[in-house]
Amino acid sequence: MIRLPWFEYRAPRSVAEVTRILAGEGPGAMLVAGGTDLLPNMKRRHQSPATLIALRGVDELKAVANGAGLRLGAGLTLSEVVELPELGIAYAGLRQAAAQVATPHLRNMGTLGGNVCLDTRCTYYNQSYEWRKAIDFCLKKDGETCWVATASKRCVAVSSTDTAPALIALDAKVRLASVAGVRDVPIAELYRNDGIDYLSRKAEEVLTEVLLPEAKGWRSTYWKLRRRGSFDFPVLGVAAAAKLAADGTVEAARIALGAVASRPFLVPKVGEALAGRKLTEEAIEEAAATVASRAKPMDNADMDLYWRKEVVSSFTAYALRELRGDDMRAVRLRTARQIL
Ligand SMILES: Cc1cc2nc3c(=O)[nH]c(=O)nc-3n(C[C@H](O)[C@H](O)[C@H](O)COP(=O)(O)OP(=O)(O)OC[C@H]3O[C@@H](n4cnc5c(N)ncnc54)[C@H](O)[C@@H]3O)c2cc1C
Ligand code: SF4
Repeated sequence: MIRLPWFEYRAPRSVAEVTRILAGEGPGAMLVAGGTDLLPNMKRRHQSPATLIALRGVDELKAVANGAGLRLGAGLTLSEVVELPELGIAYAGLRQAAAQVATPHLRNMGTLGGNVCLDTRCTYYNQSYEWRKAIDFCLKKDGETCWVATASKRCVAVSSTDTAPALIALDAKVRLASVAGVRDVPIAELYRNDGIDYLSRKAEEVLTEVLLPEAKGWRSTYWKLRRRGSFDFPVLGVAAAAKLAADGTVEAARIALGAVASRPFLVPKVGEALAGRKLTEEAIEEAAATVASRAKPMDNADMDLYWRKEVVSSFTAYALRELRGDDMRAVRLRTARQIL
């Protein structure tokens, strides 16, 4: 049995209390929500915070507000997010992404905030302490070499959150609170293309809410590649959102990629290229090629990286056909089951 390291445990009841503790404890403290990623990571000594600040008792983080757009508390579990009737067609991509995270048990514990702030992953990092010690560790923790790109001074561990690309495609913001006040940040700007320092969130900040803009007339979707359809982290996530006119002309579109870099990111060119056009097969193929050209997967996740890159264009095309109104259920079922 692998044991957790020793830590002090704090259980605040309000966001104000969380921010006061964060300010007092400094970078030695970490927030824990569902603990589904952080606690296994602590067992493997990826993180050894002196203090854990638990968010489960903070009821404010569970709030859902539906007004001009939708506000989702960071403490909602992924199962609760999946069940929200407010997500409708416009925010369906978020529901699909949340529904495909891990397993039902993990979705019952894991939260939206924890998913958005998920640590980056790598085959040389997500291993036991002894395994990592045997290779003399790596840049991300305790070592000096990146085993994926040995000449690199930068860690290229992969962003593996499912909800982040979906939220980027939906143009969401996140609310960060500290004793200094509150700031709203476009979610794409929360992420850095750096496998170690992967968030622009300051150590003294807690993510309290995800803010979705009003999305009347929009529809969205999320396509995930993974080995086992019932369990695994993404090795590719394609999230797409579009607003279509009554005749099918694209008024606006956004496509974001996950799990092909240290951050999830938007491909702005493709939205610009699709605006004013109908989603014909020709337009979809062009968009798929543009999106695929931006994906630069590294050899530090499951499956062959060249094949993963090829799948980007197929999944982008599937996503756009789904937004066009095609029935993609059979393709979804096949992609969820066939990766062996
Ligand atoms: C077997 C297995 C399979 C998994 N598969 C997937 C998958 O397919 N897709 C996927 O996306 N994830 C997957 N996960 C990871 C994890 O279960 C989910 O990402 C989950 O949503 C994390 O949420 P949590 O509340 O448990 O986060 P925690 O583990 O509590 O925290 C994760 C990180 O977020 C920080 N954090 C948490 N809440 C906040 C907040 N409000 N403000 C600021 N920082 C915060 C923590 O400090 C920590 O760094 C998997 C995990 C396991 C064990
Ligand atoms: S990308 Fe390199 S430095 Fe980062 S976790 Fe993997 S091996 Fe370590």
